[in-house]
Amino acid sequence: MVTLLHEMGHCIHNDFKKSQFLGDYKETPMESSELASMTMELFTMDQWDLFYPNEKDLLRAKKDQLEGIINFLPSGMV
Ligand SMILES: [Zn+2]
Repeated sequence: MVTLLHEMGHCIHNDFKKSQFLGDYKETPMESSELASMTMELFTMDQWDLFYPNEKDLLRAKKDQLEGIINFLPSGMV
């Protein structure tokens, strides 16, 4: 599910870039693209109860997700 949401973030980001007038703005470095996709993951977290009906599983999934993002950001931005 998170992978699907992540990839949807890339798709929406790419779709928005199509309407950019300046060609330079259509090309984004990998770290910027990952911010868009990771933002989609975060935007949807308040709806994750649809996929995790068990409260304990839901909290674990959110905690794991936030830890993953926090661990990725420093090295991803470098
Ligand atoms: Zn990605």
